[in-house]
Amino acid sequence: MFYLQDAIRFFWGALLLIVVFLFGQTSVYAQYETAPVSFYQQHLLTVNEVNFSEDESTPLQGQWLFYPKQFLTGTSPAPVFIPKVINLPASFKELTGSNENYGTFVGYFKIPKEFIGRRIGIKIPNQYGAYRVYLNGDFLVRVGEIGKSSAEHVTENAPRIAYFVAENEYFTLAIQASSFSSLHGGLENPMHIGVAKVINRQFQQLMMSIAMVCGAVLGIGLFTILFAVFRGSKVRNSPSIFVFGIFIVFLALHNLFSAPYAYTVFTDINWLWGTRLEYIFTYFAILFFISYIYLLSPRYLHRLIYQIAMLLLTLNISVTLVSVPEVFARLALYCSPFGLVVLINFAYGFYLTLKHHETYSVLNLCAVIFLCITFLNDFLLMMNWIDTVNLSFISTSVYALLIMLQQSRNYAYQTYHTEQLNNNLMELNRLLDQKVQSRTEQLHALNAKLEHQVQTDALTGAYNRRALNAEIQVRFLETQRQHQGTLIFAMLDVDYFKNYNDYYGHLKGDDILRNLVQVISDNLPSSAFLARYGGEEFAVVMQNVPFQVSVELMNTVLDAIRQQGFEHHNRQDHKDFVTVSVGMAFMDRQHRYIDIHALMKAADVKLYEAKHSGRDQLKVI
Ligand code: GH3
Ligand code: MG
Ligand code: MG
Repeated sequence: MFYLQDAIRFFWGALLLIVVFLFGQTSVYAQYETAPVSFYQQHLLTVNEVNFSEDESTPLQGQWLFYPKQFLTGTSPAPVFIPKVINLPASFKELTGSNENYGTFVGYFKIPKEFIGRRIGIKIPNQYGAYRVYLNGDFLVRVGEIGKSSAEHVTENAPRIAYFVAENEYFTLAIQASSFSSLHGGLENPMHIGVAKVINRQFQQLMMSIAMVCGAVLGIGLFTILFAVFRGSKVRNSPSIFVFGIFIVFLALHNLFSAPYAYTVFTDINWLWGTRLEYIFTYFAILFFISYIYLLSPRYLHRLIYQIAMLLLTLNISVTLVSVPEVFARLALYCSPFGLVVLINFAYGFYLTLKHHETYSVLNLCAVIFLCITFLNDFLLMMNWIDTVNLSFISTSVYALLIMLQQSRNYAYQTYHTEQLNNNLMELNRLLDQKVQSRTEQLHALNAKLEHQVQTDALTGAYNRRALNAEIQVRFLETQRQHQGTLIFAMLDVDYFKNYNDYYGHLKGDDILRNLVQVISDNLPSSAFLARYGGEEFAVVMQNVPFQVSVELMNTVLDAIRQQGFEHHNRQDHKDFVTVSVGMAFMDRQHRYIDIHALMKAADVKLYEAKHSGRDQLKVI
């Protein structure tokens, strides 16, 4: 953001410099008027006082003598030809009625005394044609090759600075100029005089500001192109953004190659190619601009008009590449009225848009209209039909800036919006993760509970038959594998329990079953597996417990039940408390069973034995 702000500030600074410069030009234009044609005034040449200061330059203005069709150096003996008294800047057309002409401008100047012996600079902006400058008869500087016919003459458009050391307050300046086969000619742009360092500074300020603005505009163009490329061609608007980016790039190049011809300062491109590039970049800028408009909506540019424009532009570009300025400039001139058709079509399209109150960026609309007006202005200026200043450089730069502002704003907004969406999404994800995690935990707990329920007898809390089957299977196989493993399987059955129910009711019976499970498990080691086999029968499985220990353990259980003294008055024997009978089978290396059924059967047989030999006892095999 810091860089963007700096760039904008820089951009405005550069623009300001250009505006100041152009404003200076305008005011100079306003001050000049072509003097009426005079007669025999060769000897009346007045001294023009140019009062520049240490920090400021001044226009090289005043009365000049113009000798048409003569090349003079401004020294005595005075020429016998009759000059015209004129003011500069002035075109050959204003002075002689034709731009195809040559002649010499002679001026007599006086500078402030304090600058005698100092280095003085004369800034000569681009003049159309060629010229040679003489100071007190001595050659100073030249642009192009002056000539008395188009064969001798060689045009060159470039700004120059002429330097000299003032030996005297007074000096004579003679400028020989010629122009052929061009729309312009003469000394049309105002010159300035001042201390060399001031003139240098001003010249460099102008060139720097043009280079900076062109650089900034070029940057915007390249950014726009890359933006469109990375968006991908399928995304809405991308082609028009891409075309717009190319337009901006050519705009920057056009500005570099058009007046005041900044390219001459830092390239050695010759005048012919410089002029060709000036035209070609202009054509490309126009081509991509109207393509952009056409892509916006065919309403702004009818298909046929667009195609004709493309054809004319292609023709102009091709001709410009292979011909000389007098040919391609003239072709441009003949094709230019078609520009009006395009402009009228634009205007009509925008009129329809406004009339139907359609949504369209007002900013863009105004900018495009503004741009068209300045293009028209520059065209009329180039044709010498109006006397204004070049505006397209400013307008296109401002337009590019506006687009940059708009796009950076959109980009910033979209980035922010995307960031917000991302954050929201991440927050949602986080919440979802949390939820999934807690649900998974719940599910695990539920599964564990279910697992437990599946294995547990609901009434007593002991393992159920299903769990017993699985457990005994595992332990049986383990014991079989182990070298010194033992396995005990005991069956417990409550004595006279039917009677108990009959006497105390089923609910009491249930209580007894629950209490019995509690007592049994309390008196067995934690490794013992207690399950409800069914009804009032239970099974105990113990692994790797020596036979004698298991017998003792089971007897302890029987004793503990007796000790509890659960009342039971409905027995068919003499006892009046609840007891159980136990049948137990034992397995080790010496005592093997073919399978679990055999083992269980053995315990069952022993239980039967216990039942039939007085109950409340343990029988083991
Ligand atoms: P014994 O085993 O001493 O030969 O006599 P018994 O009366 O216990 O004989 P039996 O095994 O035939 O009777 C089992 C009784 O257990 C029948 C039934 O009333 C009772 N019983 C079975 N399951 C439950 C139960 O879940 N709750 C209650 N209260 N009683 C049950
Ligand atoms: Mg039974
Ligand atoms: Mg029983």
